[in-house]
Amino acid sequence: MGVCLVTKTSKFDSAYLRRVNCVKTFCTIREHGWISRSELADITGLSRATVSETVRELLEREFVREVGSDNTQRGRPPVKLEVNPTRFYLIAVEIDVGWIVVAITTLVGEILVQRREEFRTHDYDFVLNLCVSTVDRLLRQQSIHRDDVLGIGVAVPGQVDLNRRVVTFAPNLRWRDVSLADDLERDLNLPVLVSNEAMLGAMAEKWFGRGRDAGVLVYVSVKGGLGCGIVNDRSLFLGVSGSAGELGHMSIDPKGPECSCGSRGCWEVYSDEQAILDRAFRALRTSKDSLLFQWCIVENRRLTVDDIVHAANVGDQTAMEIVRESGWYLGIGIANIVNGLNPDMVIVGGCIAASEIVFDEINRVVQERGLQIPAEKVSLVPTGLGDKVALMGCIALLLDTLLEQPEGRLNTDSVREN
Ligand SMILES: [Zn+2]
Repeated sequence: MGVCLVTKTSKFDSAYLRRVNCVKTFCTIREHGWISRSELADITGLSRATVSETVRELLEREFVREVGSDNTQRGRPPVKLEVNPTRFYLIAVEIDVGWIVVAITTLVGEILVQRREEFRTHDYDFVLNLCVSTVDRLLRQQSIHRDDVLGIGVAVPGQVDLNRRVVTFAPNLRWRDVSLADDLERDLNLPVLVSNEAMLGAMAEKWFGRGRDAGVLVYVSVKGGLGCGIVNDRSLFLGVSGSAGELGHMSIDPKGPECSCGSRGCWEVYSDEQAILDRAFRALRTSKDSLLFQWCIVENRRLTVDDIVHAANVGDQTAMEIVRESGWYLGIGIANIVNGLNPDMVIVGGCIAASEIVFDEINRVVQERGLQIPAEKVSLVPTGLGDKVALMGCIALLLDTLLEQPEGRLNTDSVREN
């Protein structure tokens, strides 16, 4: 089931229905591999005529293809359909503080190749050029022609004005009002869509992850900052200007420490990766028998959240306490989300999500502080997409936008402000 990120159609007009049917049909073909038209109708609940019309459109666009037939039935065997695995390619780019990852995928979402590049600068032009050269390099390496690439999706840890296609504020990258989508389009000569990484995380979970069947889904991204993406039914909730989901900046202590946003006591200040690392550095002063002390002080290694989770998983008491306290703060914010939005699923991503202790604590706090009905209804789970969440979100965004458009290649003019 797809997520409509940008739609200018109303919920009840024919364009909306066409898009919903298209996404439903494409996703069902993708999930089932080989499937006949009549099986598609049974699974999607669409009429045979609608399936036939939608499949015709997908065949014309070469997004799906007909393969073989089912010889087990008598009479004329029905032709099977599958997503065309080699006709077109999509490119996903994830930008974060100090690194980028570029991946080329098929329309099924299978990653064919990916490359990570690291850097030590906040300079926008440097990062832009690095994205361009890495995409160029991978295309050459895979001998993929630009004409066969339908579009590039880019995930950034910041707020994106989807109409102006501008990254308005990415505090950890120190970027303000940069025209990333237009600049990449100009330099790569390919259509580009840019979005917030947590919103893309929610899309990834809805398209490829554990949230496929969720009606109301919240994805919580715990990284250098803390952001959320909210999917309601089949649509990403954007708010008036596209910045909905910045729940990391909900204040959980009005007199708490200052946050990068200018407010005080934001949830992010207690719960993002820096907060978890700061908790570890404070604990090290008095925990000389901890594995973390050994790694960080004795061996002079740069401590990561992965290290802390690993130490907690092997029973290091200091690490277990750090992880438990981090889970408590995550639980406080998630309990607020559960009370406020009544989701059926909250999915947490980031290194910290690999810890069972964190989820025990989140579950405990949500049951303790959440209102009874929403707390009973919600399932709280870690992402199953690992560190590929944002990349898969880029692919989901591209597929969703492509399927929304009636024909041809990705047209980024349609998502600009009229
Ligand atoms: Zn804040």
